[in-house]
Amino acid sequence: MTLVDRLRAALGEGSLLEGSAFGPRHVSDMSGTGKARPQFIVRPRNTSEVSTALRLCNEYGATVTVQGGMTGLAGGANPQPGDLVLSLELLRGVENVDVASATMAVSAGTPLETCQAAAAEKGLFLALDLGSRGSCQIGGNLATNAGGIRVIRYGMAREQVLGLEVVLADGTIISSMNRMLKNNAGYDLKQLFIGSEGTLGVITRAVLRLHPPPGPITTMLCAVSSYAKVVTLLRHAQEGLVTLLAFEAMWADYFNFNANALKLGFFAESHPFNVILESTANADTIESFLGQCLDEGLIADALIARSQTQAREIWSVREGYPIENLPNLLNFDVSLPIGLIGEYAEVCTTALRARWPEAHVSFYGHVGDSNVHICVSTFFGAGESIHDVDDIVYSVLGSYGGSISAEHGIGALKRPYLHLSRSAEELALMRSLKQALDPRGILNPGKVI
Ligand SMILES: Cc1cc2nc3c(=O)[nH]c(=O)nc-3n(C[C@H](O)[C@H](O)[C@H](O)COP(=O)(O)OP(=O)(O)OC[C@H]3O[C@@H](n4cnc5c(N)ncnc54)[C@H](O)[C@@H]3O)c2cc1C
Repeated sequence: MTLVDRLRAALGEGSLLEGSAFGPRHVSDMSGTGKARPQFIVRPRNTSEVSTALRLCNEYGATVTVQGGMTGLAGGANPQPGDLVLSLELLRGVENVDVASATMAVSAGTPLETCQAAAAEKGLFLALDLGSRGSCQIGGNLATNAGGIRVIRYGMAREQVLGLEVVLADGTIISSMNRMLKNNAGYDLKQLFIGSEGTLGVITRAVLRLHPPPGPITTMLCAVSSYAKVVTLLRHAQEGLVTLLAFEAMWADYFNFNANALKLGFFAESHPFNVILESTANADTIESFLGQCLDEGLIADALIARSQTQAREIWSVREGYPIENLPNLLNFDVSLPIGLIGEYAEVCTTALRARWPEAHVSFYGHVGDSNVHICVSTFFGAGESIHDVDDIVYSVLGSYGGSISAEHGIGALKRPYLHLSRSAEELALMRSLKQALDPRGILNPGKVI
């Protein structure tokens, strides 16, 4: 019997999609780099079916690409030629929200936004939040250890997890659905799988930690004249604004490009940096904080969003959809010590423009979390490719001790560069873990390591 026949017999007809039964959505994540159509798609409805599917795939030595919401930006969910796809899209639903312990149990295929809404319905707050919230799934968020806009206050996805259920490559179910904040009984196994991008196991369920809602949030936009002042503003805001919920910096080229395209104007003149801050501090505290920053010359101008619409307008510049239309746009997601980001941006821009004088190069990101994104758009000459841009961005980064992935993961796209951010000993240990948990190498081959 073929693998397809065995899977169909074990899981039922509706669990398998073949031929024209599935569209291009399963070919590429949001990086747009996937090219190979998978052989077929398996869509388990519960943990037991995931276990059965993997046990059979392992028996046949069939390679499996794990797919969540397909919003990843590192090519991690893109099938390679010959792979079959295991999609979590039918394994969805909020199992419960436990108000007493401030936790929720969810299935891996549940969209992030559904989880946020279920927590809010019970008067609680799920702190994980990303622009892709409507499409990305909790399983994908945990597999990538997603960051997002609330990391500065609540930490990354990893910090929101108390329990996890995972199926190993051979079908073994590891159910660690812990609901306690404290549990030091042996190794914290869930951490192995969070951020492993589907290479060590398939996440099927999770217990997430919830918080009291932060209360009314005020959005501010500050104009700043230098990167050194951006860093000082961050420190002042962490001290003076009680709860700082977001700190997002945009370099002038990024801010002006998007604001102009969106026909939005906030200040009378252009400034080298624009920073979005969000806080739950009261109106008086915010007014006096901004007043003091203006008096000290730390900020050149400031605006407090007076409505949800104005707050949305400010965030729409940060989300930067217009810039996506630049030709051959490449997006990078790097991290380096906060104090060095300004200098890195200058050196990197100079190096890129030395090669492509007309290139668009701009920077923005979660600077409060030591994370900056880089947009590069250029035309390539004969014999040139995107790898020439990668080489420049990452070699400059290496000289500053930065990481090639802050939050999007390594996936397939950054795999050739992982050695720039990890030592030979770290890579060897990663390979040992992979070998121990997936000896036949069936899970997400060609990804991460
Ligand atoms: C508009 C937009 C904004 C974004 N903003 C952010 C941001 O602020 N911060 C950030 O970190 N990312 C951001 N992203 C990237 C992306 O949304 C995240 O990486 C997200 O966590 C991916 O979730 P997903 O369900 O779409 O996973 P997919 O793209 O389907 O998969 C991502 C990786 O996880 C693996 N995987 C998926 N599900 C499972 C599972 N159940 N078990 C094991 N492995 C699995 C896949 O094999 C793949 O390697 C953004 C993307 C977009 C399009």
